[in-house]
Amino acid sequence: MATDVDASVDVLVIGAGGCGLVAALAAERLGASVAIVEKAPTCQGNTALSSGSIPAAGTRLQLAAGVEDTAETFVRDLMAVAGQHDAAHLVATLASTSADLIDFLIDEAGLELELVTGYKHVGHSTHRLHAPPSRRGADLIAGLERAVARRGIPLAFSQPATALIGDGARIRGAVVGQADAPSRIGAGAVILACNGFAAQADLLARHCPAATGAVYAGSPHSTGEALEWGRALAAGTGNLGAYQGHAAISVDTGALMTWTLVERGAIIVDGRGRRFGDETLGYSAFADLELAGTGPFFLVYDAGIAEDVAAGQPDFAEACAMGVARQAGSPGEIETAAGLPAGALAKTLAAARAAARGEVADAFGRLAWGLGPLGAALRYSAIQPACFHTQGGLMVNGQAEVVRSDGTAIPGLYAGGGAAVGISGRRGGVGYMSGNGLLSALGFGFIAGRAAAARLVSVSGLPGLAGRDDVSNQPIHNGG
Ligand SMILES: Cc1cc2nc3c(=O)[nH]c(=O)nc-3n(C[C@H](O)[C@H](O)[C@H](O)COP(=O)(O)OP(=O)(O)OC[C@H]3O[C@@H](n4cnc5c(N)ncnc54)[C@H](O)[C@@H]3O)c2cc1C
Repeated sequence: MATDVDASVDVLVIGAGGCGLVAALAAERLGASVAIVEKAPTCQGNTALSSGSIPAAGTRLQLAAGVEDTAETFVRDLMAVAGQHDAAHLVATLASTSADLIDFLIDEAGLELELVTGYKHVGHSTHRLHAPPSRRGADLIAGLERAVARRGIPLAFSQPATALIGDGARIRGAVVGQADAPSRIGAGAVILACNGFAAQADLLARHCPAATGAVYAGSPHSTGEALEWGRALAAGTGNLGAYQGHAAISVDTGALMTWTLVERGAIIVDGRGRRFGDETLGYSAFADLELAGTGPFFLVYDAGIAEDVAAGQPDFAEACAMGVARQAGSPGEIETAAGLPAGALAKTLAAARAAARGEVADAFGRLAWGLGPLGAALRYSAIQPACFHTQGGLMVNGQAEVVRSDGTAIPGLYAGGGAAVGISGRRGGVGYMSGNGLLSALGFGFIAGRAAAARLVSVSGLPGLAGRDDVSNQPIHNGG
């Protein structure tokens, strides 16, 4: 072992979320020695908070369900929602890796995944979301954590990385641990899997000013260290203005009100009792509309929609049990209880029902009305817009290597998930398609882990690179 490091591994992964755990498993599978350092005391990042839906095209689960899909169709869908952006070159990389990723998660990590056929969510032209039966990211993370333990990969909690170690030629490790007991970990490759910057107010205000008006519903640990370290190395960045918003967080409980409600026919009104956009734009794009206006906002649906959605989505059933779906026998009841102008909601509902029946064109261009016009037994929920996570970050190439503005790779440094550039457009919440977060987290984790291990094999042969005497050097940036 080099003399000025406390320990050495072939691949050091910073962050134990979806990206980091998959990266570690993928690198270990190719024979690399791997360690993961995690800032928090448990795996509680955004992946654990998510609903665990991973989009993938051409998977065996799709085939078994008779769903025809290809990476090319997936790319078309992604680009249609995102528009041109700084990482368009990575969209095909992720789409064409996605089926292998699902195989890896099932076969190598032992995850139980199923194809979601009850809903598609905006932008996906076919059923391609793959999720744990519970539809909880916490189960995804628990399964990955078990796989990491089975493979004997060390995972150190409460050990934040605070700086990268390098010598100008390549990254050679990181400083980790609490300020009073830092350790220097030498590594042949470092994978930044420590998410984005949505919990860092200054960075969010600088890059995503509109999102500062939203409730933050993501991990408190997404504080932007990867971006700061990368910038100190002159790394390129992209899509920094993009984030995932969500238009329907319950004001009562903070629960995420699934967008399936809208897909089944729910509408959203403001404090005037009026609709103000096409809800089928999607939960992230619609959050932008809410952020551009003023609340309060209400999701209005009916008993049939509530029952249908609760039957397929346990999270929503639980939210209903907590009282988020308030009952009303008439629009007037909602107007009184929610303080809306008398008669306003009744008028809005009449127009929406007429559009859903196809009698008139919808004023906002909405074409899809799910189960049809809303029934008489109404349900409503007070909602607010939220920011979940940022979608921009360090520019990477198709091997998940962090690259400088001129496209050259920074040797030994990889990034994925929220730490890396996303594929959701350049600005705001409008380009986010359901699953983009986990696709780039797990997808780039998979790519980075394999690429880092393969590169080490080709450079020095494995195992053993970690034991080389030149694996140490100076901290090059303290991301404090
Ligand atoms: C409520 C919610 C619902 C969502 N639903 C979906 C969905 O269904 N589908 C989808 O595709 N996306 C969804 N997303 C987005 C998705 O969760 C994220 O895009 C994805 O989880 C990011 O993965 P990650 O591994 O980059 O980050 P994380 O899962 O957040 O993991 C990063 C880890 O790094 C750790 N860390 C941070 N800094 C350091 C440091 N300096 N040193 C060591 N460790 C550090 C953090 O503590 C954390 O554990 C959702 C997000 C939220 C908040």
